[in-house]
Amino acid sequence: MYQVVIIGAGPVGGRLATELAARGISTLMIEEHAEIGRPFQCAGLVNPPAMEMVGLENTILQNVDGALIHSPSGIMVPVGKDGRVRTHVVCRKKFDQGVVAQAMEAGAHLWLLSKPISAEVTKSGVDLQVEREGEIVNLQCQLLVGADGAHSWTRRYFKLGRPKEMMIGFQADVSGLKGKPNWLEMYTGRDIAPGLFAWVIPSGDNTHRIGIWGRPQDLEGRSVEQYYDSLISHPLWKGRFEGMKEIARYCGPVPCGTIRKPFKNRVMVIGDAAGMAKPTTGGGIGPGFRQVEAIIEKLVVAIEKDKLEESNLSSICKSFKSFRKEQDRARALRDLLVTIPDDEELDSHFRMFNRPEILELINKEGDIEHPVPLGMTLLRKVPEFRKLAVRAGFKLLFA
Ligand SMILES: Cc1cc2nc3c(=O)[nH]c(=O)nc-3n(C[C@H](O)[C@H](O)[C@H](O)COP(=O)(O)OP(=O)(O)OC[C@H]3O[C@@H](n4cnc5c(N)ncnc54)[C@H](O)[C@@H]3O)c2cc1C
Repeated sequence: MYQVVIIGAGPVGGRLATELAARGISTLMIEEHAEIGRPFQCAGLVNPPAMEMVGLENTILQNVDGALIHSPSGIMVPVGKDGRVRTHVVCRKKFDQGVVAQAMEAGAHLWLLSKPISAEVTKSGVDLQVEREGEIVNLQCQLLVGADGAHSWTRRYFKLGRPKEMMIGFQADVSGLKGKPNWLEMYTGRDIAPGLFAWVIPSGDNTHRIGIWGRPQDLEGRSVEQYYDSLISHPLWKGRFEGMKEIARYCGPVPCGTIRKPFKNRVMVIGDAAGMAKPTTGGGIGPGFRQVEAIIEKLVVAIEKDKLEESNLSSICKSFKSFRKEQDRARALRDLLVTIPDDEELDSHFRMFNRPEILELINKEGDIEHPVPLGMTLLRKVPEFRKLAVRAGFKLLFA
């Protein structure tokens, strides 16, 4: 009998377990793999506020001060400033292990090589059947939390719906690539990353992570891996990637679009399981941590009083509505400025971004965590964007 059982010991499950256990709630994490943080599918970008919450600076491989963003025809827009850290690149294995270790230090328990088989919600709790290292174990808890990632068992088992968008991400780890230290690169264009972008991220020790993500409907029947091959052999960029050596390749889903009702009686989902990743960058660690921070105090009171009916969880999760709204607005602006335009229109946007006064504005107001205010300022202040402003108004109104 535990008060809370969390399915999935990823960063978000680990973070929630830490906060619960630190407040005296008996918590068990159930993880299907033999090891935390493996296999990982991530570029490893963790923003400073998320890093501050866990204090795992020892997992940082590299700091990033800015981004060199390339248009389809090769116009380059530099966003950032040397010496001002915008984000960190971490070793995801060490980071996830650090988060889960904090949970265990706070008193949470962890079962590896374990996964749920069935769950039944009763008046007094949740009866859970778990396969633990090949054996069936019966468990009871007051609250079951699914922090079990993009293809969440919990979300599917309890029919909690689907995230609005399920992007596909692909990444290769490479060595032998040179680049501007502490700056990541982004590449756009229909042949490379239709609708979104590809990235090249320095990950310390003369290694880089090259990745691409896209919406399935934009990929025109090709795989993201094929787009990666197009990037490294593209006439404009192949010189950039000459001589590099691949160390690993991996692929994974990025769920962007918080599900409408991520809870039922005594059950809730968080993190990727709830579709929390950002539609502008695909980052899911920061939003998952924010989600935990937003609910923890009320959730602990509800667990202590055993008030965990759907109506109680609905009131605890009220803040998720504003997260969803924020995501919808960011997606609407992303569609307008990046996803819908063809290569020609994207090039013309880049030409405008590259003007000194616009660059100054981007560097002053740009916040990758909250892109909507900058998007709105650009639409308002840049005369060439004004024709987009009306469309943006409608999109934001109905987002
Ligand atoms: C290519 C790529 C690049 C990315 N880059 C970034 C980035 O740079 N920055 C960023 O913030 N985000 C990035 N993301 C997204 C990020 O990886 C996720 O948002 C983040 O890992 C979500 O954390 P989570 O704890 O919710 O889920 P996960 O990290 O997926 O953890 C879920 C855990 O649950 C376990 N699990 C799943 N099912 C079960 C089950 N049935 N039983 C038991 N255990 C189970 C899994 O093994 C896993 O340990 C990227 C994603 C991809 C695909």
